[in-house]
Amino acid sequence: MTLRQFFRKYSEIYTVFLPLTGVFLIIYVGILAFSSTTIIPPGYPIDPETNALLYIHRSLVTIPSVTTYEHAAANFLNSYLTSQGWTVELQSVSATPERVNVFAYRGKTRENKVLFTSHIDTVPPFIPYSVHDGYIWGRGSVDAKASVAAQIVAVSELLESGAVGEGDIALLYVVGEETDGIGMITANDLNLEFETAIFGEPTESKLAVGHKGLILADVYATGLASHSGYPELGIDANYYLIEALYKMQHLTYPVSELLGNTTFNAGTLDGGVAANVVSATATSSLAIRVAADTEMVVSILKQAVLDIPHVELNVTLTYSPVICDYDVPGFDTYIANYGTDIPHLMGTHKRYLYGPGSILYAHADNERIGEQELVDSVTGYKQIAAHALGVSLKNEMTEKKET
Ligand SMILES: [Zn+2]
Repeated sequence: MTLRQFFRKYSEIYTVFLPLTGVFLIIYVGILAFSSTTIIPPGYPIDPETNALLYIHRSLVTIPSVTTYEHAAANFLNSYLTSQGWTVELQSVSATPERVNVFAYRGKTRENKVLFTSHIDTVPPFIPYSVHDGYIWGRGSVDAKASVAAQIVAVSELLESGAVGEGDIALLYVVGEETDGIGMITANDLNLEFETAIFGEPTESKLAVGHKGLILADVYATGLASHSGYPELGIDANYYLIEALYKMQHLTYPVSELLGNTTFNAGTLDGGVAANVVSATATSSLAIRVAADTEMVVSILKQAVLDIPHVELNVTLTYSPVICDYDVPGFDTYIANYGTDIPHLMGTHKRYLYGPGSILYAHADNERIGEQELVDSVTGYKQIAAHALGVSLKNEMTEKKET
């Protein structure tokens, strides 16, 4: 084939295929543009300047940060916040592996009236970021990276509009919330003083009135093994454990007008070795979500097993119910049946608990956040902060309408 023949042949192919490719490309772009279920297709570049919310959220969800391995997520926040003019302090929580809390403020003023705070760790396993069906999916997408991203964007917009300035709002993002709260406990050493803390956790974009307390305990029954045909020669640990559990399940627990019922759950049961052997040991682990009076609940649990032989109750963790402030007009209220870092942060500050998304998707294989709810929560955070600071958002809202 001469060079001339070669070019003639390929120019024929191009005259047919080039327009066809163009048609397909137009159809593809059309589908992307009109698809109502997708704001940002995965892998599509997000401009951090014009779409900071989705940029921060995707960056954080893309970075695995299962509890104790939060460092990369903290690094991202450090460099992002620094690039946006924040003064960032990294507070060491542990040296190996390296774990840090991220504390940020404007200028030189560490002491701020309002603290936006949430956590950067997640439960395992890591689930990659994806976007479909109107939701953003992935580990931490709702708990609590949605809150982190929305808080940062809320305060940026408030700063930009001039509604707030240096000394008004600081940011604190901690490690270890999902296990022992070590990040927030350590954050007390920062010696911060503020009037209001706004905690970000999924509350379905409602304002939480508070959350229940928790008692974790193990019940042990110790018996004596024997042939099941001669049970009178043994001591049946299973029997006594079941009796203890039954009694604890049927106690009258305190009720709170605000937080509802105290609930009892025997989450694990383990006893005996075989059907034809009288069980020598039996254990159960309990989680009691306490609506009121934690000490009283501990004491009635202990009392309940006191007269059951061979049974012992070992309380391993307790914390009391938390009552939040919920006086911001325009919000529905919410009762959280889960724990947060709120009791770990010492002080006499007001406490708000608010965040986009549902706790029912947190910790689940299908963890996700509604795209629109994530966007709307920025306004929610701005309203709560403005209420706490006593500033009006009126100018900001009209400015926004005009642009
Ligand atoms: Zn959380």
